[in-house]
Amino acid sequence: MWSFLTSEEDKRPGMCPNCGETVKAQVVESNRFRRDLCKCPNCQARILICRGTECNDYALGGNRYDDEYCETCFKKFLNSCKEYIRELPEKLREHAAKQQKSKKQ
Ligand SMILES: [Zn+2]
Ligand SMILES: [Zn+2]
Repeated sequence: MWSFLTSEEDKRPGMCPNCGETVKAQVVESNRFRRDLCKCPNCQARILICRGTECNDYALGGNRYDDEYCETCFKKFLNSCKEYIRELPEKLREHAAKQQKSKKQ
């Protein structure tokens, strides 16, 4: 989670999204507030540490430089979004009911 606090030596091996190898990324640009920009030692692709919790894999940096998640985590993230949206009407109803209750008190 606090990946910006870890030093270069702490980069754990993870899967490179470009070549599919498990690599220990080399830091190209150290970022204090954002994630470090890394490089795959195998295929030289620009990669970033995935933001997913408990995930050691890397996300492809590309030109945008700020992909948040590796493919696996991105899919997980999308699914959780879908779930959230599906449950949203219910959550809103609950919220409205709670507000009505507090108004009566
Ligand atoms: Zn690679
Ligand atoms: Zn991930």
